[in-house]
Amino acid sequence: VPLGNPKGSQGPPGSTWPEELIALGPGESAWQVVLKKIQELSDSDHRDPFMVANLGVLASRHQAFRRALPRVSPFYAVKCNSSNWVLRVLATLGTGFDCASQVELEQVLGLGVAPSRIIYANPCKPVSHIQYAARRGVRLLTFDSEEELTKVAKHHPEARLVLRLWTQDSESSFPLSAKFGATLEVCEHLLQSARALGLAVVGASFHVGSNCQTAHSFTQALADCRRVFEMGRASGHDMSLLDIGGGFPGEEGLKPKFEEMARVINAVLAQDFPVGSGVEIIAEPGRFYAASACMAAVNIIAKKAVLQPGGHRKLLYYLNEGHYGIFRIFSREPVPKMPIVVKELGSEPPLFPCTLYGPTCDAFDKLLPGEVTMPELDVGDWLVFPSMGAYTTTMSSTFNGFLPASVCYAMDPKLRPWSGRAENLVPRQQVPLEGYVLDIQPHPSCCCLLSSANTGGISQHPPTKANYPPDT
Ligand code: PLP
Repeated sequence: VPLGNPKGSQGPPGSTWPEELIALGPGESAWQVVLKKIQELSDSDHRDPFMVANLGVLASRHQAFRRALPRVSPFYAVKCNSSNWVLRVLATLGTGFDCASQVELEQVLGLGVAPSRIIYANPCKPVSHIQYAARRGVRLLTFDSEEELTKVAKHHPEARLVLRLWTQDSESSFPLSAKFGATLEVCEHLLQSARALGLAVVGASFHVGSNCQTAHSFTQALADCRRVFEMGRASGHDMSLLDIGGGFPGEEGLKPKFEEMARVINAVLAQDFPVGSGVEIIAEPGRFYAASACMAAVNIIAKKAVLQPGGHRKLLYYLNEGHYGIFRIFSREPVPKMPIVVKELGSEPPLFPCTLYGPTCDAFDKLLPGEVTMPELDVGDWLVFPSMGAYTTTMSSTFNGFLPASVCYAMDPKLRPWSGRAENLVPRQQVPLEGYVLDIQPHPSCCCLLSSANTGGISQHPPTKANYPPDT
């Protein structure tokens, strides 16, 4: 059931189709929508890649965040998934927003979000973007250098500045500290410079790196923030905002568990920034909200079999999505993202080492950097990748003329983001497709097979030897 699109809603960059919003039928799951679309497309020769986003997942992730970190207000990182529907649902739920550029500020403000619910959290900003923030009343800005202070003093003197600290982020899949963050040694000088320029520093922030693997990174960073709060107050700043950044795990069910991380964070907050200390605490989660909201379906457009030394067969699959589309981030993931094979296969089909190539003429264009173990498939068959909501559409390009996957947004019609009332976004239980279970944790080296031949569920085949991490 098409429900119409929000004003100004666009498909992914370069695409010609609008974002589609459909209502889930009674008891229908996003997984069922994926299978239905696959069936529809398989009746034609246009087996284009597509994504299905279940907007209801955002509401349950929000609930999980608030439950685990009750003192922390989430300011969703727009860069992670900037779909209008995602932002609209989150705005209705009451999150704030972390924007990295003028375009992101424009998008969020365009949805009617108050400037006070936005942090412009890019420590190194173009002057024209700072001027835009000043014109639109976005006052919370991060910085980590003296040069940034000079620009802000000239173009946005009313800013409420947040000092971004360097963190130890070696335990994260995507470290950020080589590029951003002031070390403790320079903080005092920066705080005094801000004071001399007549600028207000109101707090400190950090980012432990995306997909952080240990709560210890937060513990150390929070200890540093406490030091900086003391320094700031000594320099005459009214330090009242603590921003603990993003980095929380995205995929549900994987380790480290968000709730365990949150317990450690809460304990440090209680000790160093206790209730009643007058400090407001915010975070900038991205993948935590968006990752599990989307699934992507991609089609095999070509195939080759090669004989390896020893006579072993290896399969090369060419898919209609790849590194230059929605899979770009996965070339840097330490653990491969495993697909679900949507095909009826026997219960124990032979498995082969496989390389999954994207559609462009570049040999680097792979969906996953290493080899994976999969059964023999054919041109026209489908693979579904779960948890594709984070850093996928926002990082895709149209290289070689391949348009990124279209996105279909699905929502329980009872959840109404366009009404602007948070109580309408009550999360409902994920309804699994009858007989199929999506709560899977694939072994890094093998895919999951959708098969009706075994227990009627998605079965996981025993892992075989995988060449991962890749040698390329
Ligand atoms: N905040 C900032 C400043 C970031 O750079 C990022 C990601 O790069 C995020 C928040 C979101 O991080 P994550 O998606 O890991 O929560």
